[in-house]
Amino acid sequence: MSDYDVVVCGGGPSGATTAFYAARAGLRVALVDRAKFPRDKACGGLLTPRVLNELPELKPFIEPVIECASHDVRLYSPSLKYRIDFDFGPHTPWNVRREIFDNALLEAARDAGAEVFTGTRASSFDFNGGVTVTTPQGDLTAQVVVGAMGPNDPLAQLMRKARGVAAWHDGEIGTALMWEPEVGRDFMEHAFGDKRSLLVHFRPAGIEGYGWVFPKDTILNIGFGGYNSTIKSINVREIWKGYLELLRNDGYFPAGDPDPPVKGAPLPLSGPLRATTMERTLIVGDSAGMVSPLSGEGIYYGMHAGKLAVETIQQALATGDFSQKALDSYHRAWQHAFGQELRDLAFFAKLALKFPERMVYYGTRDPKMCEIFADLFLGVTPGGLGKRKPVARALRNVIRYPYFGWG
Ligand SMILES: Cc1cc2nc3c(=O)[nH]c(=O)nc-3n(C[C@H](O)[C@H](O)[C@H](O)COP(=O)(O)OP(=O)(O)OC[C@H]3O[C@@H](n4cnc5c(N)ncnc54)[C@H](O)[C@@H]3O)c2cc1C
Repeated sequence: MSDYDVVVCGGGPSGATTAFYAARAGLRVALVDRAKFPRDKACGGLLTPRVLNELPELKPFIEPVIECASHDVRLYSPSLKYRIDFDFGPHTPWNVRREIFDNALLEAARDAGAEVFTGTRASSFDFNGGVTVTTPQGDLTAQVVVGAMGPNDPLAQLMRKARGVAAWHDGEIGTALMWEPEVGRDFMEHAFGDKRSLLVHFRPAGIEGYGWVFPKDTILNIGFGGYNSTIKSINVREIWKGYLELLRNDGYFPAGDPDPPVKGAPLPLSGPLRATTMERTLIVGDSAGMVSPLSGEGIYYGMHAGKLAVETIQQALATGDFSQKALDSYHRAWQHAFGQELRDLAFFAKLALKFPERMVYYGTRDPKMCEIFADLFLGVTPGGLGKRKPVARALRNVIRYPYFGWG
């Protein structure tokens, strides 16, 4: 008999959520992560309201680690000539620090009954009437394995090979750089007030991508990102300098001459993989490309996928059928939940990243467009954006509000 029903490899939000729901359902669960927790992760740390709305069972673990809500967002056009101001009303996104948030989710999984192995790298996977996950600390055997090891997930690579899914190239994967300077409460209150407004700048310092400032309690989370093909060709220190100067001029960054670290991480931006299962295997989160190609938001999608994966794993354990065909009910479930949404976002990302000046301009002229734009970018509306036909609206605006300029 195997040691576990399921071994979840990767203890970030996607893996920890999978382990949490699996253990809660009474399954024997091992959760394995190569890092020792608490560990940090390069991220903006912005949670859309859907995380709490759609995963209410995790509320008691997440709520205590929320630093603050952000009540509105300011989206700037590249020239800074146009700005969309959008108030989130009751659907505020939440600010967390990943080191603390991820640890809380890992503890939630442990609390639900998962056995947690940190500082433990999953190095190989053997399928032989079950699955054996090899780690330097010993083998773990199970009926099913879940890959949640981020964009370079070795299990996802095996699955890609088996299902004929090509590796991401530089035009499909992005890199985002971020920094979390401590600015103190006085500066924070003065510059961002109780609203803790989010700032988003398209093409900061000229790079094709966007920059952000997400204010937490006393730290600022500042970053920028774009496709690898762009990021590889820029001078990161120069971009940091330009972006911080822009923020300082607007009063959003204190005086001084800081030297931000060049700290970044990859993120898939081409939408989810067309296959996310193989025999005895399910892939969730970043490793499956479940990230908004427009904003880089991936926490919600990965966590939601983890919850859906557990439903399929339960069925497979009940029937004893662990074939790819049986596990594909997971693939269909996440496709149904947010597959169309990610496809819409991929399409809109092309428009917004190519013509950000125009998109923001239309947002300033058309209140509905403004709402759609903020929703697309931050996923704040319960139920998501799918039904909004944002692209059709954008195209209608091209006719209604002609824009005499490019970019
Ligand atoms: C700079 C930046 C800013 C971002 N901002 C936001 C944001 O504000 N909001 C948002 O929703 N999303 C944001 N994202 C995306 C978000 O960070 C990811 O979508 C999210 O972390 C995905 O979670 P995950 O659990 O799938 O993967 P991860 O969080 O990457 O977790 C993977 C885990 O697997 C472990 N692991 C890797 N290899 C192995 C191995 N061989 N064996 C065992 N363990 C292994 C790692 O240690 C890690 O803990 C941002 C991304 C970047 C890069």
